[in-house]
Amino acid sequence: MTRVALIAHDEKKADLIDFVQQHEAQLADYELIGTGTTGQRLMETTDLEVDRQASGPLGGDLMIGGQIAEGRLDGLIFLRDPLTAQPHEPDVSALLRICDVHDTPLATNLSSAAFLLEGLKRKGES
Ligand code: PGA
Repeated sequence: MTRVALIAHDEKKADLIDFVQQHEAQLADYELIGTGTTGQRLMETTDLEVDRQASGPLGGDLMIGGQIAEGRLDGLIFLRDPLTAQPHEPDVSALLRICDVHDTPLATNLSSAAFLLEGLKRKGES
């Protein structure tokens, strides 16, 4: 089963909800996990199930990073807010780093998120 993590900082949550709604049919075939608030908002606005971890500032990014370290995720879509300082910036850096360590596909903006889902679709068809 393809497993994808979804995270958005507060200023980007609306963008992620729009994106997920546009790709809901594809994402319905995947196991989804997300940070606490992001996961909750996605479940309120779509018919998708999201396995919610802790909220990002309370360790949710690190929990998702742990799953990446265990090789349990096929991709991460993480819409970061590049214009606002985050109290948990060290956790954000750790999460991005562990994706690179494990060569896990990572998208941090909407354009690359679309490519990531396209890539997962092709992988599933091959
Ligand atoms: P949240 O966490 O979904 O709980 O808001 C996101 C983050 O800040 O990493």
